[in-house]
Amino acid sequence: NLSERLERSFKILKGQGSITEINVAETLKDIRKALIDADVNYKVAKTFTDEVKEKALGQDVLTSLQPGQLMVKIVHDELARLMGGTTVDVNIKANPAIILMSGLQGSGKTTFSGKLASMLKSKRGKNPLLVACDIYRPAAIDQLKVLGEQIGVPVYAEIGNKDAVEIAKNAVKFAKQNNHDLVIVDTAGRLAIDEQMMKEIAAVKAAIQPHETLFVVDSMTGQDAVNTAKEFNDRLDFDGVVLTKLDGDTRGGAALSIRTVVTKPIKFVGTGEKMDALDTFHPERMADRILGMGDIVSFVEKAQEMYDEEESRRLSKKLAKNQFDFDDFMGQLTQIKKMGNLKDVASMIPGMGKALKDVEFDDNVFKSTEAIIHSMTPFERKNPEVINGTRRQRIAKGSGTTIQDVNRLLKQFDEMRKMMKMVSQHKMPFKRK
Ligand code: GDP
Ligand code: MG
Repeated sequence: NLSERLERSFKILKGQGSITEINVAETLKDIRKALIDADVNYKVAKTFTDEVKEKALGQDVLTSLQPGQLMVKIVHDELARLMGGTTVDVNIKANPAIILMSGLQGSGKTTFSGKLASMLKSKRGKNPLLVACDIYRPAAIDQLKVLGEQIGVPVYAEIGNKDAVEIAKNAVKFAKQNNHDLVIVDTAGRLAIDEQMMKEIAAVKAAIQPHETLFVVDSMTGQDAVNTAKEFNDRLDFDGVVLTKLDGDTRGGAALSIRTVVTKPIKFVGTGEKMDALDTFHPERMADRILGMGDIVSFVEKAQEMYDEEESRRLSKKLAKNQFDFDDFMGQLTQIKKMGNLKDVASMIPGMGKALKDVEFDDNVFKSTEAIIHSMTPFERKNPEVINGTRRQRIAKGSGTTIQDVNRLLKQFDEMRKMMKMVSQHKMPFKRK
């Protein structure tokens, strides 16, 4: 899956001091492949990675973050920016405000019509009227009526009338006479783009002059979604996009493709069959979803805030010379604690989430560790190798722990020192902006 692929490609970047042409090329190739796998259109993915490359090149990573982590953030921010940056509202100022649905059959128009009516009724105090303009399938009218009943919104339908334009016009008239300040017109779709369907919906649009025409698309349709969106947009010049069925396991790459190709905002996402499964579209969240590693973005931000560059330089030097001591160890513990729950922090690192699932992090371990270090003399902290049997006994007593606890910590410290020496040769992942 995408996040695993990205993890792999970001590994290539680990240990590099800054983002350069060479280390970025491989990674971007993998990101592009990954985006295409997430149903982002091929051309869109290519343009996207070219732009990210421009942004990434030359970014100074210093000692703090792994370049891979910084890349995730750059990719994430760029994704969010391309998907519009902010949430865009529907235009419901007019009275009555008219909203027209368009899209292929099965995309979720009827379901969304109900959801939108329900949302605007309960959250924005509207008095909606739903209009059944699917004249081809009597069952479609029943479907809308059932939904209307569920959410307490009346449905306008004309059984037997085969003229969608006429029904739509009559419905608007009816709404005005009955104090409905919002008219939501559900239309018929076809399984594929079809001239008759396009003509019909264009005619409905021309006749009722909606304030908002929405294009509804199933996020599972993948690469096809772009072509469909383009054809509907060429014909209807719609105002916004509704992405349905995001509750499935699709990553929603269609959002990026459609937004890029038709340059119309995505306004809503459908997340289930129930009437309340509707969200307004948030570019940031969608970027998280497409990348599948949103948490790392907040990790990078947190790390950038918390870690002190000077301190990290000083530590790197000490590590390289194998002078890392218990005072430094204590400093590290304090910094980790500042970042909050250790497990939360660690699980934000790609790949760590799974590994840590069954590990128990016990804050008491921190406490006894701190107690033991506090019971050492300054000399012992600077020179851990002098801590012999009698010193160990004294430290155990002073810290209220056992000699086994002290032994364990000393052993861990020793192993950590060795490990950190290795890590330090690839630079430590700590820095501040
Ligand atoms: P229409 O032909 O465009 O009117 O599509 P419908 O509204 O009839 O929806 C087609 C099918 O998709 C129905 O079974 C809906 O329950 C289902 N559906 C619509 N939106 C969503 C969604 O956001 N999530 C899920 N899981 N199913 C949805
Ligand atoms: Mg329908």
